[in-house]
Amino acid sequence: MEIENKVFIITGASSGIGKATAHKLAENGSKVVLMARSEDDLNDLKIEIEKNNGKALVIVGDVTKTKDFDNAVSKTKKEFGTVNGLINNAGLMPLSFVEKLKTDEWEKMVDVNIKGVLNGVAAVLPELKENNSGNIINISSMAANRYFPGGAVYCATKSAVKMFSEGLRQELAPKYGINITSIEPGAVATNLTSTITDEDIKEKMEEMQKMETLEAEDIANSIYYVLTQPERVNINDVYLMPSEQQ
Ligand code: NDP
Repeated sequence: MEIENKVFIITGASSGIGKATAHKLAENGSKVVLMARSEDDLNDLKIEIEKNNGKALVIVGDVTKTKDFDNAVSKTKKEFGTVNGLINNAGLMPLSFVEKLKTDEWEKMVDVNIKGVLNGVAAVLPELKENNSGNIINISSMAANRYFPGGAVYCATKSAVKMFSEGLRQELAPKYGINITSIEPGAVATNLTSTITDEDIKEKMEEMQKMETLEAEDIANSIYYVLTQPERVNINDVYLMPSEQQ
């Protein structure tokens, strides 16, 4: 598919993988809609993209709020005419051991990592169905495929995203030509570990960060690969790991 002039909403665009993806798609001529809660970071990104002759729209919003997604879709249609795809990327990873019962953090992960993805799909689907085409890319994780210490809840949220993606694919791709992908990266150098409050896990993370991880741009490249396939090709999963990660 040609992505020039196509319109993509990217959640969690204020940092890490979302930000790198916004740059990658805008550099290749797409119109990008930058959604997250950090308004200043989104505005700075929009300025950077426009300096490189790209087109971007800022939507300050929380993926756990359906009204923020509805606002994102209506403003996108007003500014750019339509929506061609959604990159459901916003997420958090406050890892902890279950016995510590950090139940507030479990709830946040379920709200953002699972419900945020569902909210995004609900918001864009009517427009994609109308267009009889489009892409939904859900950023799951290596955590969908295997448990790692402190990841019981996080891994559960990412497995949910992976299986939801497969359900979406079977329901939407044959009927409406809407292609669905789950992206499952191993460790990527971003701010994701900043929400960890469990001291035992923090130590393990510092150890892990000694290896050469993936860069956010590596994930942006895999998203670009998915979006630039012919429409007849649905890339179901992309599972990529740092070479040094076991
Ligand atoms: P970052 O912490 O750099 O980015 C997370 C993004 O999510 C931020 O832009 C943040 O924006 C946004 N976000 C968090 N909560 C909300 C919310 N309620 N509403 C809207 N936006 C929100 O981490 P990454 O770039 O690494 O994470 C992106 C995705 O990649 C996540 O889903 C993560 O689980 C997944 N992933 C990351 C891996 C890694 O090793 N880094 C590996 C595998 C998957 P703001 O705070 O401004 O709202």
